[in-house]
Amino acid sequence: QTVRDLIAAGERSFSFEFFPPKDTEGERQLWRALRELEALNPTFVSVTYGAGGTTRDRTVDITERIAHDTSMTPLAHLTCVGHSRDTLRSVIGSYAGAGVRNVLALRGDPPAGPTAPFEPHPEGLHYAVELVEMLKSLGDFCVGVAAFPEAHPSAESLEADARVLVAKARAGADFAITQLFFRPEDYFRLVDRVSALGVDIPIIPGIMPITNLAQITRMAELSGAALPAEIVERVGRFEGDPVAVRAEGIALATELCDTLLAGGAPGLHFYTLNRSKATRQIYAGLRTTVAAGA
Ligand code: FAD
Repeated sequence: QTVRDLIAAGERSFSFEFFPPKDTEGERQLWRALRELEALNPTFVSVTYGAGGTTRDRTVDITERIAHDTSMTPLAHLTCVGHSRDTLRSVIGSYAGAGVRNVLALRGDPPAGPTAPFEPHPEGLHYAVELVEMLKSLGDFCVGVAAFPEAHPSAESLEADARVLVAKARAGADFAITQLFFRPEDYFRLVDRVSALGVDIPIIPGIMPITNLAQITRMAELSGAALPAEIVERVGRFEGDPVAVRAEGIALATELCDTLLAGGAPGLHFYTLNRSKATRQIYAGLRTTVAAGA
């Protein structure tokens, strides 16, 4: 089944994101987390594509193993960074060959970081919208794209950023997943901007549970998301007590998820960092039922 069909089935989507680990211990941790989260019956699970295509083989391998060895539907990320059109076609061919039908089409970040100027491969693609078009021309893929509640760090404005998402939807993208964010109103405003432009694409909010203040500060910096003062204040009160910081972080994320679902979000996508516990705790605390395990 494709993610498109699963979302269209009407229940709220519930999904997890993983990254390809670097070593054997990381691999064990990833599979432990995957197996623990499989029990929640997620709508799909996604595997990131490392900077500059560096994780290409591992991303393809893990995605294939999820497709073959688990009951879960995989969503494979793919970026344009450092790849010619021919290489992109060949990676897409590997996915198709392994029966992977769902791909998240991304531009990717320049090796120097998200705000550095993007240098496309001389034979490559400039923008994610071109990758959406390529995927749609090569087969019956269900294609997801990135969305940014606070606008992409190099976008001219919130409006211009919404138009980029609309262009990706018009090129055939079936759904979007957002960058991490902390204020529900940023998500709802993005949804409003996109629908004001006449496009109705499901936008799944991306959630990163706060389990540690230093880590979330770094993640927010990397993604360009603002870490609001009220969040720093609520979690910072417990500085020096990691257990209490974690509990407050989980409570905050659970509140955010409930507000998003109550406001009509079509599901939740969790950045798991290859661990399952925080996501399982949030899931258990939700007031609204999502598809998983239902
Ligand atoms: P695009 O949609 O191409 O946008 C990139 C920039 O170009 C934006 O500033 C946009 O406003 C601008 N732009 C787009 N089209 C035009 C146009 N026609 N004219 C002028 N300007 C334009 N990165 C990875 O490396 N690997 C991953 O696995 C990965 N997974 C991600 C998953 C999610 C859910 C999200 C939200 C992000 C992910 N990223 C990943 C990060 C992403 O690759 C970066 O944020 C990247 O900088 C932008 O990618 P994009 O697909 O949004 O690009």
